[in-house]
Amino acid sequence: MLSITELSENVWSRVAAGEVVERPASAVKELVENSIDAQAKRIRVSLKDGGRLGIIVEDDGTGIAFDELPLALMYHATSKISAVEDLEHIMTLGYRGEALASLVAVADVELRSRQQGADSGGIIRTRNGKITEHIPANCPQGTLVKVENLFSGLPARRKFLKSASGELRRCASFIREYAVCSPKTSFTLEHDGKTVFATDGAGDKKRILAKIWGNSPEIQSVNVKAGHTELECWFQARAGLTGRGDTMAFVNGRTVNDPVVKSAISQAARELAGNWALFFGLDPSLVDVNIHPAKSEVRFRYNDEIYDAVHECVRHLGRPMTIPEILSAPAPIITHSTIPNSQPSTRTSSGWKFSDTPSAVKDIPAFQNTFTLPEQEEAPEIQYLGQSSGGYLVYDNGEAIILADPHAAHERVNYERIKSIAESSHNVQKLLVPAVLHPTLALEVHEYERELKASGFGLENTAQGVELQAVPAIGNVEFEPEVLLRASLAALKNNRDGDTRAVLWRTWATMACKASVKLTTKLSQNEALALWRELHDCKQPNVCPHGRPTMIELKNSDLLKRFGRE
Ligand code: ADP
Ligand code: MG
Repeated sequence: MLSITELSENVWSRVAAGEVVERPASAVKELVENSIDAQAKRIRVSLKDGGRLGIIVEDDGTGIAFDELPLALMYHATSKISAVEDLEHIMTLGYRGEALASLVAVADVELRSRQQGADSGGIIRTRNGKITEHIPANCPQGTLVKVENLFSGLPARRKFLKSASGELRRCASFIREYAVCSPKTSFTLEHDGKTVFATDGAGDKKRILAKIWGNSPEIQSVNVKAGHTELECWFQARAGLTGRGDTMAFVNGRTVNDPVVKSAISQAARELAGNWALFFGLDPSLVDVNIHPAKSEVRFRYNDEIYDAVHECVRHLGRPMTIPEILSAPAPIITHSTIPNSQPSTRTSSGWKFSDTPSAVKDIPAFQNTFTLPEQEEAPEIQYLGQSSGGYLVYDNGEAIILADPHAAHERVNYERIKSIAESSHNVQKLLVPAVLHPTLALEVHEYERELKASGFGLENTAQGVELQAVPAIGNVEFEPEVLLRASLAALKNNRDGDTRAVLWRTWATMACKASVKLTTKLSQNEALALWRELHDCKQPNVCPHGRPTMIELKNSDLLKRFGRE
């Protein structure tokens, strides 16, 4: 048996470092948190190759005194707590005094800093875990930390490093979160010399969220209180989403990935699908942040209050929904270019319009949205009698009066069309005006580029950035290309069962269902006839995708009986 020996500092420091600095993104997180703790108003993060080749985090915060630079790099050296009691009311993000020391153990570090009020600052450099230089230098107020050769002494760890795009996405994700949480601090994230995300520090939380989630639909917010817990909640309903959208959660300004918070959000998302940003505020003595070296999990004294607060937000934000609302998707434009006499009409109130002239849709880049009628109109075997006051369409087929629910019928038509497109080879609709994606969105897109391209999205790197040049042609359903892209991306992110195609077509079908005409929509005769035909071309015309009937039949023979004529 091996005898017990005390580990040398060289070994234990690397063991311990692994818990704090697991990967480039966790190094960035620790450094950014230090900048926030130093009350920086400006934080710039610059990465080379997803941080694998180099990380710089620079801030204009309070800085470190020249003499204390070596201390800052030591294990268990911190300016944030000094006694056990301090653990009871931690308001800073750091307090363990481990991050810089861990970095020194696994990388080469350079730290430049000038403390607030000091005339000059200094530089300290380390190599292979040892300080190699500590010299005075002129530098701006604040701190710059440069990390190179990460894990160079740990080949095993290096081997398991994720792709540069994966690291970048993680960094971008929590920098976005901190940008939302600290709207008065300006954040810049650069990657290989290009800015991928930036905020201005003007303090407008909603605007920062809109940058991340998109402008529409409207982002709502609500503040609630449950017992000791205050919750500021921001929510955006999300097109075609069946699970959680983008979610971020903070407890006293700390971004957390906590099981209790996660399950509270999951519960909320089941009722209201969309993007969530939750800011919990509670007395620091009621939450234990000292559970894990990476500090992402916390322990609440009153778990129930977390659920209650989230539930209360859901109650305020809206009625529970069974199908996700497509608030942002423009509803369909239906054209009847083959029918000369149909009445054009515009319905601004419901946000969608009918038009007869193809010119009316010429500047719509994506889908030509048609209930196709045959060019050669045969004598219709079906007669359209009109629309009842309840919105139902009334037809006569010579044997019966048929009442149709226009919404259910349109849902069925859209659903089958999307399904057949998804099952066959992909039809692609080229956009007349390609859209340059916001860098944040481009970053997420990059992660799922293969799947998105395979399903019909045309994505191209151009001098302007990533361009969306084509989208899957989803038959007669009209969506904003970017809305379709965001919804598909969200579905891919939430995808657990692996069948990308099925996941995407279900998302599109849900979107199409929501974009279907409403019961209250007035249809013209031609529209009603076109809908009839489309419905009867479906494999299952009699029920909508949710199992409700699309049509109810009153047979003439039954009517005879009921009127006592037989
Ligand atoms: P912790 O954040 O847990 O205290 P760190 O190892 O991350 O531990 O940092 C050690 C100390 O170095 C901090 O307590 C702080 O005093 C100082 N420090 C680190 N980064 C900065 C920064 N960007 N600005 C000012 N001081 C910093
Ligand atoms: Mg720290």
